[in-house]
Amino acid sequence: MKHNFGAGPCILPQDVFKQAADAVLNFNGLSLLEISHRSPDFVKVMEEAQSLVKEALNVPEGYSILFIQGGASLGFTIVALNMMRDKKKAGYINTGTWAKGAINEAKAVGIDVNIFATSEDNNFNYIPSTDNIPTDVDFIHYTSNNTIFGTQFQDVIETDLPLICDMSSDIFSKPVDVSKFDIIYAGAQKNLGPAGATLYIVKDEILGKSTSEFMPKYLNLKNHADKGSMMNTPPVFSIYTSMLNLRNLIANGGVEAAQERNEAKAKLLYDEIDRNPKFKAAVSGKDRSLMNITFLLENDADKNRFDQLWNDAEIVGLKGHRSVGGYRASMYNALKIESVEVLVNVMKEL
Ligand SMILES: *Cc1c(COP(=O)(O)O)cnc(C)c1O
Repeated sequence: MKHNFGAGPCILPQDVFKQAADAVLNFNGLSLLEISHRSPDFVKVMEEAQSLVKEALNVPEGYSILFIQGGASLGFTIVALNMMRDKKKAGYINTGTWAKGAINEAKAVGIDVNIFATSEDNNFNYIPSTDNIPTDVDFIHYTSNNTIFGTQFQDVIETDLPLICDMSSDIFSKPVDVSKFDIIYAGAQKNLGPAGATLYIVKDEILGKSTSEFMPKYLNLKNHADKGSMMNTPPVFSIYTSMLNLRNLIANGGVEAAQERNEAKAKLLYDEIDRNPKFKAAVSGKDRSLMNITFLLENDADKNRFDQLWNDAEIVGLKGHRSVGGYRASMYNALKIESVEVLVNVMKEL
């Protein structure tokens, strides 16, 4: 049994893998992969997946749940295009690689981007102050959890402007007040399901209001919402497996219980990083992510031995991203605390 600390695609409950595999072989007599996405059997899956998202996050009335292809990377373009209004200006927070990706795509579609907060000066190892939110912009965009650098916003940003958030790597890890957002988007493969689907939780009010002259049909969220997320062939395997995972999440106490488990796992590991003189955390204090924990060795001479120890313990996916170096332990919902205990024991052994 391997302990998967990979940053994404994510670990999912074994039960979910099993049921998804079964459906590939036999879903009411055919494979899930060969049935029409317009068949009643699949329409039921889509509707259940949408209603489980609403149930899990307590989504208020007036929002549509969409599953679109292209990953969060296409989401960068989609949200910018759909939120563009008369000012053609937006406020973005730069907290690292993915945030920067969103900024670049907003610029690419012709938005004048005001980066009003950034932590670039210290290699993104903290969450910058958001006191200077601009007012003369169409919308505000931020990335709630910075998968690569291991920082996370603890609170939703306070603004009266339309608020957009890339929640790819912490959605469903804790409760969130959806009513504060105009669009939440997230690639499925970090904490929800297999790659393929990207979840959009969209306030219906914003649909069809873009002032962009460039608006390909597929990138217009209104078209997806009007067709119940079935404008074209949806990524059926990703949606089905995400639905199974949401059932599993809700059966295990929902996002509130997931948050408690995630806090306990993160505390266990951060306590060891802080206690053990051989290690240092890449991020300090309240900005620390509960999902992606970045840390380094104090002394590079320990590298070979530590790498050997965790490999021997059947731990995988611990190598840090090249922009931070060191190690990154991604602890998505399905990672068990027992796996974190194995890692902590290896750190103690070193
Ligand atoms: C992984 C990730 C992305 C990119 O997601 P894709 O679905 O691969 O395009 C974007 N934002 C965040 C926060 C991520 O963690």
